[in-house]
Amino acid sequence: MAAVKHVGVIGAGLAGLAAALAAVQAGMRVDLFEARSAPSAVLAHIDVVPNLLRDLVTLGIDDACVRCDFQYRGLEVVDAEARTRFEIPTPRLAGVRYPPSLGMVYGDLLQLLRDAGLAHGARLHLGTPVLDAWDKGAIVTADGERHRVDLSLIATGPTLPAVAATAPRATALASLPQQWCYALLPRPVALERTTWVIGHGSTKAMVVPVDMRRAGIALLQPEGASQAPAALRQTLAAQGPLLRSLGALCGDDMPTQLRAVRSGVLDGEWHAHGALRIGHSAHVLPPHFGQAAAQTLEDAVVLGDLLRARPERNALLQAFMARRGERARRVHALVAQAARWDVQPDATTDLRALAGELARIVAEPA
Ligand SMILES: Cc1cc2nc3c(=O)[nH]c(=O)nc-3n(C[C@H](O)[C@H](O)[C@H](O)COP(=O)(O)OP(=O)(O)OC[C@H]3O[C@@H](n4cnc5c(N)ncnc54)[C@H](O)[C@@H]3O)c2cc1C
Repeated sequence: MAAVKHVGVIGAGLAGLAAALAAVQAGMRVDLFEARSAPSAVLAHIDVVPNLLRDLVTLGIDDACVRCDFQYRGLEVVDAEARTRFEIPTPRLAGVRYPPSLGMVYGDLLQLLRDAGLAHGARLHLGTPVLDAWDKGAIVTADGERHRVDLSLIATGPTLPAVAATAPRATALASLPQQWCYALLPRPVALERTTWVIGHGSTKAMVVPVDMRRAGIALLQPEGASQAPAALRQTLAAQGPLLRSLGALCGDDMPTQLRAVRSGVLDGEWHAHGALRIGHSAHVLPPHFGQAAAQTLEDAVVLGDLLRARPERNALLQAFMARRGERARRVHALVAQAARWDVQPDATTDLRALAGELARIVAEPA
């Protein structure tokens, strides 16, 4: 079988944009199909944890990230009264030139990846939903066009049935009865790094500085809770000083974003025929420890590395699974445990030990 030269990517979220960039940098011809008619501008933070920053450096968009975002070291876990309970270390995995971790605006990261991919020659087809990821060597779009490719990457996110046909069978995704509500607010002057607040009652929140002026908040809520700014303000008003002060800044016209907590990894191989699932289409991680995005970027970096050797398709798919399958499962198991403890803490709850185990896995690149 001939070497892979032309890659079709379905979905221009984090997974698709990063994979398109990695493939085009590896010398591939790349077509990227996105159902939405305009790029998504997500007004929420993304916590760029050490292994995610290392992969952004590998993809070459490091300088832009570091220039415009809030660098920090060490994640702090505090109680409702802002007393430090413990710290989760953030090792410097990206190299001495770079900080250990960053906070940034999610939409800005998508734009950096998109701009870099387009600058390297990837072709982005907006408003082009894909109906079939692999039909006799072609991607079939809703306008009836068939686009011949050597490899198809399914990066359609956790809506698993979105691309049907010959795509691999998915395991059911577990939904935890939780959602996270995200918003961007003015940064409290004293907020110098990502802070995980274990508040009164069962309230938990992550606060991430994204630049000198702004911080992102993600508030853990029961599924179905209102995302209206007034409801957010009310919940935060009943908390300790940090969350109360942020609640007071929630204006009525402040945009909020919801993220349902899902959890699952595909059973067995992530590919069938010529189509490989990547990102949340293959593994959905709850938000704990910032690994959802980091594992998505790992898919892209490994693909880029493998494509550079000009393999034929089946060899590439096997090598990809060898580097990503078991590793993603191990990371998922630890992150899913942290999410379960949020819903139901027990005598064995030990977030710090979980964080340590996870750090040992991701310390080396995939
Ligand atoms: C508000 C918010 C904040 C987050 N913050 C963090 C964070 O701090 N840290 C972290 O680790 N993770 C975070 N995440 C999770 C992170 O976004 C996921 O890791 C990531 O979204 C997975 O990306 P994806 O590209 O696989 O899926 P998605 O982002 O869901 O992208 C899928 C894309 O595919 C397109 N699509 C779907 N079906 C088709 C089709 N048939 N044809 C063409 N296109 C299609 C969709 O329109 C979409 O653009 C956050 C998520 C949200 C929503």
